[in-house]
Parts: sequence; structure tokens; C-alpha cells
Amino acid sequence: MRLRFLAVLALLAAPSLWGAAAEAPQRKLKVYISVDMEGTVGTVTGDQLGPSGFEYARYREFMTREALAAIQAAKAAGATEILVSDSHGNGENLLLELFPPDVRVIRSWPRRLSMMAGIDESFDAVLFIGYHASASNLKGVRAHTFSSARLTRVAVNGVEMSEGSWNAAIAGHFGVPVVMVSGDDAAVEEVRRLVGPIEAAVVKQNLGFHSASTLTPEAAYSLIAEKVRAALARRSEFKPFRIQSPVLVEVSFKHYLMAEVAAYMPGIERTGSHSIRFTARDMLEAADIMTFLLTYGPQLEP
Ligand SMILES: [Zn+2]
Repeated sequence: MRLRFLAVLALLAAPSLWGAAAEAPQRKLKVYISVDMEGTVGTVTGDQLGPSGFEYARYREFMTREALAAIQAAKAAGATEILVSDSHGNGENLLLELFPPDVRVIRSWPRRLSMMAGIDESFDAVLFIGYHASASNLKGVRAHTFSSARLTRVAVNGVEMSEGSWNAAIAGHFGVPVVMVSGDDAAVEEVRRLVGPIEAAVVKQNLGFHSASTLTPEAAYSLIAEKVRAALARRSEFKPFRIQSPVLVEVSFKHYLMAEVAAYMPGIERTGSHSIRFTARDMLEAADIMTFLLTYGPQLEP
């Protein structure tokens, strides 16, 4: 009796099961987008890059629209979930009200994993938007690594790193590949040199630290969308950027005292007047120590 009842139930349920199967099956495609600003279209000086700049209000909208171009293209390529991190300056640049309701945005600092906060092994691909060259690069608009005021060099296992390759290594720790980068030509070249031939949108050619020949905003949005679609279409070709553990991190500071005081900490070795090094268990511990070095101070009062 009970069996017959279940059989009837199964028959009743069958049409809806067939209906569900007829719809296009949606495979999970979770995308992480880290957005910086120095590598966005048109930005060349502090006039565009912070709240005190006379062009900032307009350029944070350009930055937002570059992120939106990436989001729309990612969705067109099948993205089912998107997390965006506002990873420039105060971390409060992206215009939240312009974003679609089904994405989440990470804002402000300090935060664990910094420009990659929220990344984990559940993601399938990472996109870098608005990235810039490193402090070690002889070229690049506003070239710096993490802090233009404090750092002059960051190296991992003897290799000089940009924010792009450092963040790619954090994603790599979780087995997630970076598939696309946008920024100026120097930033793109630097990321691809270490991470591999990922898709790239060059939105401006650097002419110096404070000068570039730039695309217009609309052209940049189109280019970014095109490269995101291409990257996600061939994402299976990209490998996670993995760093061998333990991780030897070398840091050079702009100011003498930061190296002197950092070396008070056990595990941090002073290697020069302005430089230190430390060994971290993996990229996550390296990222925590780096965030600590650049954040901790007597000014930490809410
Ligand atoms: Zn920035």
C-alpha cells in the first residue's frame, strides 16, 4: 500500500522533473574581481585617485563602470556568483548603487587578505581590474607595491612581486587561477611575466609615473568586456599561480625607522638599513604579516 502510494507520488512529480531537466543546466562559475584604481582609464595623478583630487568624483565612476563592464561580461560568460573587492585607497571608491543586486562588494580596511579578501577555494576565476605596476618597475603610471608612501620593494622567494603577482599567489593558494588583468601596459606586462599569458586589457600606455596616453572610458569598458569574455571562455587553460612554501618575503621600506622597529619582532630579520625579511608558512601568513607591517601603529584608534 505504502509502495503504491509512493509510486503515485513519483508519477505526479515526474512532469516537473522533466520540466526542470529541459531548462539549460547552470554550472557554477564563481568569479572574484579585485578592483584597484591607478590602472583605470585616464588616471595619472592624485587629482583622480583620492577624495581631495578635483577629478576624483568623476574617475571613481569610471572605475565603477570598468568593474561593471567586467561583471556584465562575466555574467554573459556564465558567471553564477560574483564577489567584488574595492581595493584602492580608502577602499570606499566603488559607487555601490550602480551595482546589480546579485553581487556583493567588499569595502574598507583593514581586512584579512587585503585586496583579495573573501577569496577561497570555492571560486573558479579571478579578474584584476585597474591594476598598476610595482615599486620595482622602471615604468608604469603610479607604480608602487601596496604603499607608495612606505615600500620600495617586495620580493617572494627571491622574485620581485607586484600587487598583481602577490594577489595571484593568494588566489593560487586556494587553487584559483587569475584569468584576466586590466591596467596600463607596464602593469599588464609585469603580471603576465610571472603569472602567464592571461587575457589582458591595456587601457592606457604609460609615458611616465604621472603621464599616459589613454583610451576613452567607453573604449576601455568595451575592451575590458571583450577580454573578460575571452578569459572566461578559455579559463580551463589557466593554471593557479602557486608559490612554493615556506615563503621567503623580502621588504624594503622608504623610511629607515620602519625597518629598524619591524626587526624588534622575532622572526623578522633586518637585512639592510631600509630592508627586512621573514619566512612565512604560506601566502596567507605572508599576507597577514604584510598587512600587520603596513597597518599597525599608535594611530589605530577608532
Ligand atoms: Zn590603488
